[in-house]
Amino acid sequence: MTERRLTTAILLAVGTELTVGETRDTNGGDLARELTALGVEVLRLAALPDDLAAVTAGISDALAAADIVVTTGGLGPTPDDLTREAIAAACGEVPTVDAGLEAWLRDLYTRRGLEMPPSNRKQAWLIPSARPLPNPVGTAPGWWVDRPDGRVVVALPGPPREMTPMWRNEARPRLGTRGVGVDRAAATLRLTGIGESALADLLGEARLRTANPQVATYARHDAVDLRVSATAADGPAAAALVDRAIAEMGPLLAPYLFARGDETWSDAIGARLAGRSLALVEIGTGGQLGGLLGAAPWLLFAETLAPTTPLARRHRDMAAYARRVREIAGVEIGLAVRARERAGDMAVTIATDIEGLVARTTRTAFLTGDQGRRRAALAAAAELWRRLGDGAPKGRAS
Ligand code: AMP
Ligand code: MG
Repeated sequence: MTERRLTTAILLAVGTELTVGETRDTNGGDLARELTALGVEVLRLAALPDDLAAVTAGISDALAAADIVVTTGGLGPTPDDLTREAIAAACGEVPTVDAGLEAWLRDLYTRRGLEMPPSNRKQAWLIPSARPLPNPVGTAPGWWVDRPDGRVVVALPGPPREMTPMWRNEARPRLGTRGVGVDRAAATLRLTGIGESALADLLGEARLRTANPQVATYARHDAVDLRVSATAADGPAAAALVDRAIAEMGPLLAPYLFARGDETWSDAIGARLAGRSLALVEIGTGGQLGGLLGAAPWLLFAETLAPTTPLARRHRDMAAYARRVREIAGVEIGLAVRARERAGDMAVTIATDIEGLVARTTRTAFLTGDQGRRRAALAAAAELWRRLGDGAPKGRAS
């Protein structure tokens, strides 16, 4: 028998109650989540009626396309339960009654003082390439079928309370020992100062269409994230693919890269502060800059002014504010930002005082209201981060 690595699956839910909509197929989704967690790519979920030709064709087609075919349902004793017959037909094998299974079934009934109905006998069937999967909570054993080319068919009962334990206790461990799924590695680069579409242009269509390693952009509320992921036969090989893609894109991305993984603006600024402390004043941002930087231990002073206060109206020189707040707090770095609504957007003035070196810049943040204020705060965080990266800080190693 071929040792085939099992990386793809098709799930077939068998039962006319599903195709007429009387019962929802919950087995498919539950198994899809489980298989995905094992690193198996689920190619298709389908429901089929209790029809021998339809189920046989469904299994044959699935075996042509996927490494693993999992069926649920159709293992009952009645004539409309046809999954065993369909698997036997798809594999070109003939079912026979297995003596061991028959004895187990008969015992289930005699222990309860009952005689086994003749129709239950087919639940003791096996085909030569099938091994039974025990069912401690029902009369339907499952089947584990090894195909000559290394593919696998797993037949599980329909009722979720029987399907789930058989999957967990029998099928999933067997898949594990067979070498299932692929290993995946991923890394996220967090970018600022570039929009999703400009980033797409920068990287080029070919890069964004490559399947492995896959490079995808996500517009988050505080950044554009670039996620690089790859699959390979083992974890180190997948990680190497990711690392190589990142190294190739590195020079293009360097001007925008402020953080990795789940690092935040607070983490990125904290790293560049390198032990120094910050004081800030924000006007017209509703305190969102202080909120963004959170409870960072290096943020020693944060003042929020409404744009309507006489103080904020009288003094418009943000550079003076940055210097003043730095002096008041007695810290190395001062930051001042003012956001005003202008033509549907926010006009943002940002000033930094980095150990006496004062700089001032203006930006436009899209939209007004809460979104505009949040973007203005992000612009201020990004500007501070950039300025902190300009040249080595005085007097300290970074
Ligand atoms: P069966 O194994 O075909 O006799 O299924 C018995 C019962 O299990 C059905 O009547 C349904 O109530 C339930 N069932 C079967 N398949 C599914 C499924 N895919 N999702 C949820 N419940 C199912
Ligand atoms: Mg059924």
